[in-house]
Formats: sequence, C-alpha cells, structure tokens
Amino acid sequence: MKPLMSSLTSRMLIGILLLQFILFPVLFGGLLYIVKKGYETQFIDHVRSDAYILASTISSSPDYSIIEDAFLSGRITYAEVIDSSNNQIYSSAGQSVKNVFKEDFYFGGHNDNQYNLIILITDDNGKETAKLRVSYDESSTRDQIDEAFQRGLLFALIYILVSVLFTVMLGRRLTKPIEHLRDLSREIAHGQFHQEITVTTKIGELSSLARTLEFMRTELMAQTKTMKHQALHDALTGLPNRSLLHERIDQALFYPVNAKNKLALVLIDLDQFKEINDSFGHLTGDNVLMEVSGRLRSIVRQQDIVTRLGGDEFAVLLPTADEEAAVRISRKMFNALLEPMVIDKYSLRIGASLGIVIYPEHGDSFESLLGNADVAMYAAKHSGGGIKVFNRELSQDAFKNLTIASDLREAIEQNQFFTVFQPKQDIKTGQVNSAEALVRWNHPEKGLISPADFIPIAEKTGIISGITKRVVEDVIHKLGVWREKGFNFSVSINLSALDLENKELSEYIVELLDKNNLPPEYIELEITESAIITDPLKALESLDKLHKTGIKIALDDFGTGYSSLVQLRRLPISIIKIDRSFVFSMTKSDSDRAIVRATISMAHDLGLKVVAEGPEDKETIDALKLLECDMAQGYYISRPLEEDKFIEWMENNHKILSDVKLEKTGWLYTK
Ligand code: C2E
Ligand code: CA
Ligand code: CA
Repeated sequence: MKPLMSSLTSRMLIGILLLQFILFPVLFGGLLYIVKKGYETQFIDHVRSDAYILASTISSSPDYSIIEDAFLSGRITYAEVIDSSNNQIYSSAGQSVKNVFKEDFYFGGHNDNQYNLIILITDDNGKETAKLRVSYDESSTRDQIDEAFQRGLLFALIYILVSVLFTVMLGRRLTKPIEHLRDLSREIAHGQFHQEITVTTKIGELSSLARTLEFMRTELMAQTKTMKHQALHDALTGLPNRSLLHERIDQALFYPVNAKNKLALVLIDLDQFKEINDSFGHLTGDNVLMEVSGRLRSIVRQQDIVTRLGGDEFAVLLPTADEEAAVRISRKMFNALLEPMVIDKYSLRIGASLGIVIYPEHGDSFESLLGNADVAMYAAKHSGGGIKVFNRELSQDAFKNLTIASDLREAIEQNQFFTVFQPKQDIKTGQVNSAEALVRWNHPEKGLISPADFIPIAEKTGIISGITKRVVEDVIHKLGVWREKGFNFSVSINLSALDLENKELSEYIVELLDKNNLPPEYIELEITESAIITDPLKALESLDKLHKTGIKIALDDFGTGYSSLVQLRRLPISIIKIDRSFVFSMTKSDSDRAIVRATISMAHDLGLKVVAEGPEDKETIDALKLLECDMAQGYYISRPLEEDKFIEWMENNHKILSDVKLEKTGWLYTK
C-alpha cells in the first residue's frame, strides 16, 4: 500500500476517484431524477388529455367505439363508464365492474403498472351524467425511464474511465519531469554536477523548479571550485599548499625518470621571521610572507611550483631539475631573499635556509623527500643559513637530534653537565675581571655535545630550567671556593626566555650568593634579544626584579634581532654584547665594522658598557680598541676552559693583569 500511496500519480488517481464517489452520485442521481420526473409528467399530461378527449367524445355522442379503438390499440388497458347510480354502462372488453377503482395521482401508484383516472362525463349544461374510469399502461414509460437509467450508467462508466485515464496521463506528464529532476538532483548530491539541468515541460512550477535547481547547481559548482581551491591553496599568499604539493609530487613520481629528467624539491625556511613577527606585529609578518612568495615566484620557471607549507616554511618543486640546476635556482632564491625588503616603512633583512632533495636519489615518496629536505634545511640553518643538498650523513645527524631530546632529562639526573669558563678582557686596561660560564654536556656514549646542539632542544622541551639551575648552583659554588682562595672576578650566566618566566629564580640566586658569602656583583646574567622580544612586558618585570638584587644584566647576541637601543633603554641593562657574526668579519667587511662602531657609540651614549664577542685575531682586537670597545671575549684571548685550566690560565696571565688598578665596579684577579 505504501509504494502505491507514495507515488504522485496514484495519489491523484485516488483523489480523483474519491471526488467522483462523492460528486458523481449527487450529479448522476440528480440528473436521473430530472429525467424520470420529465418522463412521468409527460406521461401523466398525455394520459389525462387523452382521457378527457375520450370523455368529451362520449358525452357528445354516447358511442363507445372510440374507447374500443383505444383499448384495441393498447393505449389503455382498462375502461368503464358508470352512471350516477354506479351502474356500469360500458366496460372495455367486457370486463366486470371494478369495485375498487382508485384514482392515481402520481406515476407508479399502487404498484400495478396501471395509471387510473376517473373523468366526469357531463351533458350540455355541464351536469354530470356518468363517470369514465380508465387505466393506462405505465410499463412503456417505465421502460423508457429504465433505458435512460442504463444509458446514464453507461455514460457514467465512460466518464469515470476517461477521467481515470486522463488522471493517469496527467500524472505521468507531471511526474516524468519531476522524476527527471529527482534523478538530476541525485547526481548533484553525488557530486556530479557537470550536466546542465533542463526539463521539457510547459508546467510553470516545474520549469521554475528546474531553473532553481540549475541555479543551485551552478552555485554549487562555483562553491566547490573555490572550496577545492581553498583546500589546496594557502589563504594568505594564494600559493599552493602542502596537499597540492603532495598531489603534484605523487603525479610526478608516477612517470619513470630518466637521467635528464629528474625532480628536485627545495625546502625554504626563513631565518628571522619569528623575531619580525614578534617585534613588528603579525600584519608586517604577513606582508613579509607575501613579499617572499612574490620573490620566489618571480625566480622560478613556469613549470615549477612554489608552495607555502605553513608558518615561514616554503617549498619549491622543480619537476625537471637535476642537482646542478636545483642548486643554481636555490642560489638565486637565497640571494633574492637576502635583498632588504621595505615593508610598512621598515627596511627588513631576512635570511633563509634552503634544503634540497633530488628524486630518486634522496627518496621515492612525498614523505621521504620532504623529510630529507627538512633534514638538509636544518643542516643549512645550523651552519648559519645557506643552501644544503641532502646526503645520508645529514640524516644521521638529524637522528642524533631526536635522541638528544630523550637523553636530556637523564643528563640532569646523572650530572652529565659541567661548566667551562671563557675570560672577558678589558681591552683598554688589559685586565681580566670577568668570565662567561658556558655549559657542556658529557654524553656517556656520544661524548661532548656542543650547547648549540642541545640548548635549542632543551629550550623547546622546557628542560632548560633544570640546566640553568644546575649552572647557577655550580657557578656560585665555584665562585665561593675561588674567593676563599683569593680569586675575585665576576662570572656571567646565560638565561633563556623560559628562565625569565621563573619567578623564584632571582630569590634562588640571592639565597645561594648569601650562603656562599658573595656580594651580588659577582654574578652577571646574559639575556638574548629574542628572549626579551618574545614577551617584553614579562621580561621587563623579571629583569627589574633581578636588577633590584644588585645583579648586572647583559644583552647577549646584540644585532641579531630587531630591538633598537632606544627601546632597550627602558630595560635595566648595563652591558651589551655585540654578536660575534659582526665582530668576526669587522676587519673585512665595511658594513659590519660600521654596525660595530654605531653600536659602541650608541651604547656609550646610553651609559652602557660594550663587550665584543668572538675576536679571533689581534687585528680585530686592535680595531675594537680603536672603536673604544670596553671588553672582548674571544678565542684570541682564550677559548672556554674547564675549571682547572681556567684557574691556570688566570695565574699565567697574572703578570699582564696584575699591574692594572681595579676599576670602580670591576673585580680583579688579585692573587
Ligand atoms: P653565547 O652566549 O653567545 O656564547 C658565546 C659562544 O661563542 C660560545 O659558544 C663560545 O664558545 C663562542 N665563542 C667565544 N669566542 C669565540 C670566537 O672567538 N670564535 C668563535 N667562533 N666562537 C667563539 P658555545 O659555548 O658553543 O655556546 C653556544 C651558545 O649556547 C651560547 O652562545 C649560548 O647561547 C648557549 N649556551 C651556552 N651555555 C649556556 C647555558 O649555560 N645556558 C643557556 N641558556 N645557554 C647557554
Ligand atoms: Ca652568552
Ligand atoms: Ca653571545
């Protein structure tokens, strides 16, 4: 029953049939009633006038032959004439007197198929002389009525049949386009909307429905197109994203390679992006990314694909490049990114590290190629930015990094860290009255691991707090021991961004100094620009707290970030350490020398002392002296030394250092 009821045609059919069932009996019955009544009145009128003619003929001449004729012709079935005293004068066909002869006043009375009439026969004066009783046969009229009924019924049946047929046809005409539309809608629902929606129908509602569906289809098509685009492209730069790169690489790997037709993937990571984002805001950061994307695109060829993988990471797919070509194009991209960018009125310099992989040598899938490109890129970043082509040793290094993270925790527990000290020399006086404490990790299997390899990982994983605590404890303890032996100088300790969030650190340092009987001047803290810039307000708060204890604070690696000296005036800093990348090349590069000179003079204007990091030769020391730099810390003076060697070094350099007088805040080697 359900499928029958659920189709439009059957519903219409049932509706129409129901309507016929109600309407039709009324209509049909009414019509037949009128027809029947018509026949009956016609019959009654006819028999009455006939009977009157009979009566008037008899009254004018009492001859009953006219009745005889009527009887014989079958018009009447019975007739008699009775006088006023009820005696029969004449009876048709010699029938006996009908005692009970009742007049009929409507057709079909008495159920005898007879219509009885009593007509008065009068003389000329209108006086009644006799009565004519006459019966007419009703059956032929009844037959006519029956026949009319039958015909009516036949018409009714034809009518119902025709209307059913018509309904079915109309239903089909209606449902066919609807079904067609339904099929098309189903296709759309299944994502196949490339066929235009049209129906051939004159039904306004249906063609309007079809138009609406067609509109919906084109909208969907457009939306799907944008969604597909969004899914495969980066919203900011409009460049293809990781998914599209994946797709393209998969497609490219599908075809066999030949020696000439290799594929290269270059992974690019910007070097200063986080700092720019933090100090200039995200809008400027976004504009830098746009500029980078534009520069990369302008360099590559038509068939190459520049993609943004996220953050400040880009990848360039070179579908027809061998190693030589990939390196050539990478160099172009590297140089283009080095050019200063003028963004939001700032002139910014951004470096990049590029890692190159070649298919099939360095991987045979998207994942392996991208993973190895990442390894190459990190290796490039590690060596201070530049371009690296992947090789197997690099991937072993990367594996090493992974194990470092898991080994670090154990290293604290098992005391695998120790501190080395690198002297800082006052270049005006030659005195050495301070040193920097630098941590070293003696890994049980891997041997000595450089802080450059594990400090970034320790910072990322939060283990740095434990390392800082260890260094602080070790340095203050040693300072206490040395002081008792008569060595007096200050030692600086490196802090990371995370250490600035540690509210108890300053209390802990003061507590340790007290315990070892040391004034706060024995300790200096080195904080990098980037640690301050990450959250300047928080940094200011903790630096203030440390400063109030009497501990001096030095700004480390100055020049690598984007802080201006004026900005830094608000911070309680008394020393600036110029990054060794500028100092190292200051005798060869005019621009680096200019940076060192400007930094020194500005720092002096602000009342700050300047330490030059990393001089490796006498020339550099002389150049620094000329620029009136206060102090230097570099291999030329001494490499970082273990405790015993450090003390020995201090003793051997006694002569140079001892004849110089103590400066007001400095701590002199006095043994
Ligand atoms: P840094 O704070 O800038 O330390 C100075 C680095 O420059 C040291 O490297 C030092 O050995 C090196 N250096 C000194 N003079 C010269 C020179 O003439 N030429 C060259 N090429 N290098 C020179 P090191 O010890 O490998 O430390 C690297 C970085 O690791 C440090 O840079 C510092 O950021 C971090 N670090 C070291 N110890 C600690 C620590 O205890 N805590 C924290 N948070 N970071 C530390
Ligand atoms: Ca340092
Ligand atoms: Ca430094």
